[in-house]
Amino acid sequence: MEVRCDICGAKRATVYQRHSGLRLCRDCFHEDIRARVLDQVNRYSMVLPGDGVLIGLSGGKDSFVLLNIISEVCSPSKIVGLMIEEGIHDYNRDEVFEYIESICRDKGVECIRTSLKKELNYSVDDYMKYQLSIESDYIASACTYCGIARRRVLNSYARMLGLNRVATGHNLDDEVQTYVINILRGDFMRLVQLHPLSNVHSSKLVKRVKPLRSIYEYETTMLAYIMGYRFQETECPYISQRPTLRVRIREMLISLEVWRPGIQLEFLKFIDTLLEDAIENRVFKSIELPYCRLCGEPTSPNRELCKFCELINRMRSGVLDAPPSQQSVYRNPTI
Ligand SMILES: [Zn+2]
Ligand SMILES: [Zn+2]
Repeated sequence: MEVRCDICGAKRATVYQRHSGLRLCRDCFHEDIRARVLDQVNRYSMVLPGDGVLIGLSGGKDSFVLLNIISEVCSPSKIVGLMIEEGIHDYNRDEVFEYIESICRDKGVECIRTSLKKELNYSVDDYMKYQLSIESDYIASACTYCGIARRRVLNSYARMLGLNRVATGHNLDDEVQTYVINILRGDFMRLVQLHPLSNVHSSKLVKRVKPLRSIYEYETTMLAYIMGYRFQETECPYISQRPTLRVRIREMLISLEVWRPGIQLEFLKFIDTLLEDAIENRVFKSIELPYCRLCGEPTSPNRELCKFCELINRMRSGVLDAPPSQQSVYRNPTI
């Protein structure tokens, strides 16, 4: 017998939403995701009318869902999509970028393509090659370099283009993993920085927003599939090569989620309440970030170098000098 949607009662249910226990039709599922994203956007003023938004477009499911919903909130003329080629063997493919370009064109959104190699002189493959060629106890993972480098390029482009928001497609699973990693490390500063109402700021840091932060990864996958997007499903080769703390935490959280559906959503709500209370009651003071001694970009309090310069310097066996990237990244700064 055909199962009907638990919300409208009219259409055929095609999605089982584990955390709510509801069986939903495609339309009610889409509407549920849209409403939850807009709730986050409005609750934390992530995007206001008139804002200019730079969206990081990776070709993954999350980036298409993000582009779709942000283009409902903002006029397409105020959105720019940025595709960053990481330079990872067997992973970056031209047809993925061409497909993203065609989706942006259909929505009337400007789309820019660049690469870590072009902007920062080192692709992820370059970084790993250098790292493995030096004798060092310290090897930061490809994911660490990739994350830091991508954030840097997104921030630089937003500044250069005069946009006041950087939107990324991080979903609930990503967000909970990051919170758990920073709790395990005892890094309170990073915890506060992660929250949308964070009072840690810098005039050189464009505000980053994550509108999908309350949506499960399986939900963005389903929605991208329902919307008909062709998204990249190939896993980055570096993930299986050298599992990071994040990969281990991800596996643990997935098994907990199977055992108790909704546990990650409950955790996010709990952490949000805790941090909002702390921010409101000024448990954490408002902090203006200092600047890196080498490149002039914002860095964490009590640090001389930013994480990017630290990684590059370690990669070069401790020879200190400024990354050559700066000429390309700061060719036309607006701030
Ligand atoms: Zn329905
Ligand atoms: Zn630096």
